Amino acid sequence: MAKAFASQGDLGEKQEKFIKLADNAYCLTAEGDPNTGVIIGDDAVMVIDTRATPAMAEDVIRHVQGVTDKPIKYLLLTHYHAVRVMGAAGYKDAETIIASQGTLELIQERGQQDFDSEVQRFPRLFRSVETVPGLTWPNLVFDRSLTLWLGKTEVQIKHIGKGHSKGDTIAWLPREKVMFSGDLVEEGATPYCGDAYFTEWPDTLDRLRGFKAEKLVPGRGDAMMDAAAAERAIAGTADFLRDMRRSVEAGVKAGKGLKAVFAETHRAMQPKYGQWVIFEHCLPFDIARCFDEVSGIRDPRIWTAERDIEMWKTLQA
Ligand SMILES: [Zn+2]
Repeated sequence: MAKAFASQGDLGEKQEKFIKLADNAYCLTAEGDPNTGVIIGDDAVMVIDTRATPAMAEDVIRHVQGVTDKPIKYLLLTHYHAVRVMGAAGYKDAETIIASQGTLELIQERGQQDFDSEVQRFPRLFRSVETVPGLTWPNLVFDRSLTLWLGKTEVQIKHIGKGHSKGDTIAWLPREKVMFSGDLVEEGATPYCGDAYFTEWPDTLDRLRGFKAEKLVPGRGDAMMDAAAAERAIAGTADFLRDMRRSVEAGVKAGKGLKAVFAETHRAMQPKYGQWVIFEHCLPFDIARCFDEVSGIRDPRIWTAERDIEMWKTLQA
């Protein structure tokens, strides 16, 4: 049987968990669906990654209201992907939408194409997509680092290098030692590398390690509740990137085409990573981007709804 395109065959509802990380920090995880972070300040709340639609943001708001009556005034976008940012309009009290310069540039350059493409890839994650009023635009943009004091809570917002995208942003609570990594780190979920920088990502992960987080909320998968678990998630992500690059590089050096490199790399990675969620969805996009990068294409090419389908047909045929 042909493999359903991307996550079109993945329609089962996931179990959500709203987890307390510290007195002022929570996360909402959902068995490998995109995670959301919550930081509660003295007067206002920050939500990290908004979910895919305003309708789906209502779940986050409901959980937040279960622990505080302070308004959600800040939204932080860890990167530009539509499943993370298109729920922004659902937060009626939000005044400040924060993103890195790299993320802003990606929204300007390819935000609409990415939205169209992601809706097609993940129908379940875009419940009530008609409630999205348009692209989400940050109104507070930083280059490398921004510190925000939510009353007595210090929130460090940083771009520590390229990886999952060119604009990846982390949020770090230095007192609580809680890290929100966005998709730079995944746990039990396949890293999506369609917009990735394979050369820089491992170095960025080394910098992330340097924070010595005691709690880490990955982009997808369970929250890591101690330092050893955080390190395991970082190492697992780094291993995946290294194994993929090694296989793709060997194929390219041998003069093989994308289709052959895909088949070999899929075969090599399936035993170790095949049980991670969205493995079959991600691999074609990941290997296509890795093939481009090791062939000398510096920046990821724009995925469109049409290019997605064409690539899938070529590789999964
Ligand atoms: Zn992403």
